[in-house]
Amino acid sequence: MTLCPSRLIAVVFDNGLLHTPAGPQVVSRKTGVFEMEASTQAVKTAYDSAMENFDLAADALNLSVDVRNMLKYPERILHVNLPVRMDSGHIQRFEGYRVQHSTARGPAKGGIRYHPGVTLDEVKALATWMTWKCAVVNIPFGGGKGGVTCNPKEMSQTELERMTRRYASAILPLIGPERDIPAPDVYTNSQIMAWIMDTYSMTKGYPIPGVVTGKPIALGGSLGRNEATGRGVYYTIQSAAEHLRIPIKGAKVVVQGFGNAGSIAAQLLDSNQAYVIAASDSRGCVYNANGLDIPKLIAHKEKTGGVAGMPNAESISPQELLALECEILIPAALENAIDATNAGAVKAKIVGEAANGPVTPEGGAILEKNGEFVIPDILCNAGGVTVSYFEWVQDEQHLFWEAQDVYNRLERVMKNSFAEVLKIYLDRKVSMRTAANMLGISRVAEATVLRGLYP
Ligand code: NAD
Repeated sequence: MTLCPSRLIAVVFDNGLLHTPAGPQVVSRKTGVFEMEASTQAVKTAYDSAMENFDLAADALNLSVDVRNMLKYPERILHVNLPVRMDSGHIQRFEGYRVQHSTARGPAKGGIRYHPGVTLDEVKALATWMTWKCAVVNIPFGGGKGGVTCNPKEMSQTELERMTRRYASAILPLIGPERDIPAPDVYTNSQIMAWIMDTYSMTKGYPIPGVVTGKPIALGGSLGRNEATGRGVYYTIQSAAEHLRIPIKGAKVVVQGFGNAGSIAAQLLDSNQAYVIAASDSRGCVYNANGLDIPKLIAHKEKTGGVAGMPNAESISPQELLALECEILIPAALENAIDATNAGAVKAKIVGEAANGPVTPEGGAILEKNGEFVIPDILCNAGGVTVSYFEWVQDEQHLFWEAQDVYNRLERVMKNSFAEVLKIYLDRKVSMRTAANMLGISRVAEATVLRGLYP
């Protein structure tokens, strides 16, 4: 839990964070505008939710205390200070983290997040979810995650490059193609992966593309990686819709967080004749009851930096967006977007968690009680890490696949994993989240017990 001193009104830190009794909030240095983002609003932290969900699944699996103690906590945590020369000539200090939650089933794997709300607690939660996620889709990786507390929207490309290279060299002792393989996450992209790959390779003295995934194609990236998370979200939504006998054609879709994961899922649903009636990002929410023009919305966001101001769409509030009547709601932004305060307002038949941890345990219980079908994050958004695995395999073999091979293999993995989780859900009468956690945790438990305890 985050405890907030009751008499503290607000303290502004030089990383752009405004610390208030309600927790850290984001302040734009350019506009001075107070911009609240989902990950920073809740008092219960993402790591609290991760621990709670672990316990529920471990209870359902009847795991012994000994095994729980071996699985539950991060193996390794690195906290780094990053002095970076800004374009003004002045040196700014950033804090970064790399957490390896588990390497029981293979090298740690997980993205790097650049966001003002990044905390060690959040990175630990994200690393924990990566462990179960890789096991749910049965790829030979453990779980890791990294992050730097910064506001990349207010940094130039050269500042971002210097900060990235400094961060890469600071976490260098942990990463490597056989040890821990970063990838993009919120506000990081293929260019940032290219800088990490270059920094790592320059230090070792030869090119090592397998140290990161989500790289540009020209540096050993995989075809289909950029759209993999959204595509995986789409495949699991297709499976859920089939299970619930809801046609995708004509379905109304709402997307919270029109970034990489959210916009690609929206694009695939739109091109399969669903209507994406609303979409949002950190700066606005847009709505059209007859369906937004998704290719135009993507072009509008590319041009203006956000969805706000989209022609032929009205502006609505974030609360109104989550409460829209629809067949499919895709929370694709940050943690804790749906909690006990707003879950009751959700009127979707399927909630596809493209984001990591978008629904708190309390929020999830309300959705379940109201009969909404939740595709949990560690299943729904596992397409990204699955194609990251394909990229790593291609890099290791120096043999690259065609896009259609990537899509076919991804579809198989996502739909098989969905079927495995659904079976546990139906047989054991637990929530879809607990079912997914049970599948992931049981696979990590099996590997851990087989390996035994060293020394
Ligand atoms: P992104 O940076 O491309 O997009 C995030 C989007 O969310 C941005 O458009 C941002 O403006 C928006 N956003 C931020 N705060 C918001 C708020 N309060 N309300 C509405 N929108 C808000 O990031 P991404 O890669 O698409 O990641 C989104 C989520 O998906 C994260 O939870 C991430 O961990 C998860 N995820 C991403 C991948 C991947 O491969 N990119 C894989 C698995 C999971």
